[in-house]
Amino acid sequence: MGKRATKAHYIIKKDQHGFPVNTPKYKTHFWGISADQRAAPAPTHPNARKSARTGLEQSCNRPFTSPHLKESKLLYGYPRGPYTWHKHFPIARKGLRQSPINIVPRKAEYDDALTGIPLWVFYREEDDVMLENNGHSLECQITQLGYLTGGPLGNKLFRLAQFHLHWGADDTRGSEHTIDWKQFAAELHLVHWNTKYGSFAEAVHKSDGLAVLGVMIKSGVENPVFSVVSDNLGGLIQPHSEDTIPFSLDPTDLLPGDIRAYWTYEGSLTTPPLFESVQWIVFKEPVEFSPSQLDALRRLIDSDGNQMQDNFRPPQPLKGRQVRASFQ
Ligand SMILES: [Zn+2]
Repeated sequence: MGKRATKAHYIIKKDQHGFPVNTPKYKTHFWGISADQRAAPAPTHPNARKSARTGLEQSCNRPFTSPHLKESKLLYGYPRGPYTWHKHFPIARKGLRQSPINIVPRKAEYDDALTGIPLWVFYREEDDVMLENNGHSLECQITQLGYLTGGPLGNKLFRLAQFHLHWGADDTRGSEHTIDWKQFAAELHLVHWNTKYGSFAEAVHKSDGLAVLGVMIKSGVENPVFSVVSDNLGGLIQPHSEDTIPFSLDPTDLLPGDIRAYWTYEGSLTTPPLFESVQWIVFKEPVEFSPSQLDALRRLIDSDGNQMQDNFRPPQPLKGRQVRASFQ
């Protein structure tokens, strides 16, 4: 399936998967949004959108307001933070399906069922790009209706909530997943929730609640789509800052050209509370960001006041899990 085929108009034309047809544009900023809010039409005044966003406090990597989740050096300070998470979140060590993992391609099991139902991505272009420096990552809130289904998700429909990145202090490290222990310069995560649960907040701790697409990023040529983000980070340097970039961006264009080849396994959030709720789909083909695009991320400041770098969790034990591959 070519990139053009994944554009928004397919949402209108394709309804055999149960996609909404002629659905009005809803503005959904965070997963904690109520059913009433979800059913409401989009606010049209730009300030309405901003205030709706500010009024909600949940974000992907800190989806709850537990006192344990206050950002501190203990919890999020990288690179040591991940080695302390088990004190407040025992699942960090006791869990049976923690993420990320080291993917060993020769041990991955080819599963032709994955190609029987191809992975389908139906995203829409964001009119503006709503970005947040959340203190430990750079996150883009999705305001349009975007969906993921097929592949390991079968006929279950998952909705895109946000994307964010993990990166290193230099190009030798940065990704969370490793491939044969090779670490990439960065990793893009597109986070989706299972629509059978009604909201992200209800889905986030369910065993089949989330699906995350992982895209490896290596240093190379400039990525013109990501430039919309990386060229406009001036207002996001400080932790817990938000900015809306007045340019359009289609998340589809951040994916690799070939989304048919991927590894998939059952895992978890890679930040506290580390819920074991994620069907991971990690693409084989990396995409490239230029050195200056990666440097733009490294200039952000984290919640400890340091440069935001090395914000990745290291690979976790497989504990008997089988990684499946969609390709031979
Ligand atoms: Zn992530």
